[in-house]
Amino acid sequence: MLRKGVLLISLVALAAGAYAQKPRNIAPSRFNFFSKEQDIQLGKEAAAEIEKQIAVVTQPEVHDYVNRIAAKLVAQPEADQYPYTFKVVYDKTINAFALPGGPAYIHTGLILAAENEAQIAGVIAHEISHVALRHGTSQVTKANATQLLAGFGGAMLGGGLLGQLAQIGAGLGANSLLLKFSRGAETDADLLGARMMAKAGYDPIEMATFFQKLEEEEKRSGRAVPQFLSDHPSPGNRVKAVSAEVKMMPARQYTKGDSAQLARVKQVIQALPVPPRANTNFRAAGNPQAARPSTRMQRYQSRGLTFVYPSNWQVFQSQQSNEITIASREGILEVNGNAEIGYGAIVGLQQIQGGTELDRDTQNFLRQLMQQNRNMQPSGEAVRRIQIAGAPALLHLMFNSSPYPNVREVDAIVTVQHPQGLFYMILIAPEPEYQAAQPVFDQMIQSIQFAR
Ligand SMILES: [Zn+2]
Repeated sequence: MLRKGVLLISLVALAAGAYAQKPRNIAPSRFNFFSKEQDIQLGKEAAAEIEKQIAVVTQPEVHDYVNRIAAKLVAQPEADQYPYTFKVVYDKTINAFALPGGPAYIHTGLILAAENEAQIAGVIAHEISHVALRHGTSQVTKANATQLLAGFGGAMLGGGLLGQLAQIGAGLGANSLLLKFSRGAETDADLLGARMMAKAGYDPIEMATFFQKLEEEEKRSGRAVPQFLSDHPSPGNRVKAVSAEVKMMPARQYTKGDSAQLARVKQVIQALPVPPRANTNFRAAGNPQAARPSTRMQRYQSRGLTFVYPSNWQVFQSQQSNEITIASREGILEVNGNAEIGYGAIVGLQQIQGGTELDRDTQNFLRQLMQQNRNMQPSGEAVRRIQIAGAPALLHLMFNSSPYPNVREVDAIVTVQHPQGLFYMILIAPEPEYQAAQPVFDQMIQSIQFAR
């Protein structure tokens, strides 16, 4: 029996050996108009910009914990000796990001979500890989080759690189190519990160396990994609790909890290005071245009209600079944870990007990809204009396605080009597965008129909 067992093991080893391939060469793309020095300069400029808006955690136990893990990874040849820095950001969302040339940021929410130290090491190794493989500037090069060729010469060095990129729409706005990667880049960052982890003694599978866990949670909850998954889109079965990579590596003893230490760091994070400035919407900063409604419309039709809405917006069903949100992903911003609509629409029905009366019910509804939104106030514009689906309706214009930085928000609130209560459509735009959005908003309002 014993001999048979040994034979079986050696056969398995033989089979694995037969499938094992040589590790693939993973290197930065040669098609990149930026030099390594420009990656570093661009990263410094972007970091200065971003750090005006985020809350960096300086608490030594948390900061040092992340930096101790990172130091083991940065020391590996795969990291290619960029001037890396690692900062922890006070933010409940599960995210991490790195800028070209080395500045990297890890959210407190990610540390809290990690099951072990190796998973945190995995995220850091993955981010380091994007830097070392120069994915950010490589993507900007591919997407803007013509403009870059026209405008970029030797004169580029000398400051203001980020500003020049912003002028051709390749700065830090929504969907920035500096931070949002292709699936191909994801595979490379996973595999290079796995090599880095293995040499530092961390179990590389933990990186893939963590990403897969996030993907599964997202599918299960049906909630909007966490920023991490939207910036690092799944290349498909990550655990399988990393396992195949590990098989090609020399056998090593791996660790998942010190679990007692991670538990302590999590406690410290949970006890941190909420900083006055905790905000991650730098991606949207200055760029609500990314959420601007298309003038092409599509039709919403459900439960006795019909209207049209912009073809680049989508419908999000709220948990309260009486309300839906319609917006583009760019129009929904994260503020302190909460999703807020900065550019879009909310449509709903408020049930009213007893008889309905448009003016009175609308006043009650506006009062409730102002209680829930402490910065909401009347704009001073006169109320407009309009017709919707043949019935009298009211249009109130309100001002509100916007999740976009440094702008005010305009809320156009339409109310109309409905057999079951008060129907409302709230159209939301940052003030500088309101004029551009208004024709589309008007079209949405005019298209409302109720089934008889
Ligand atoms: Zn990635």
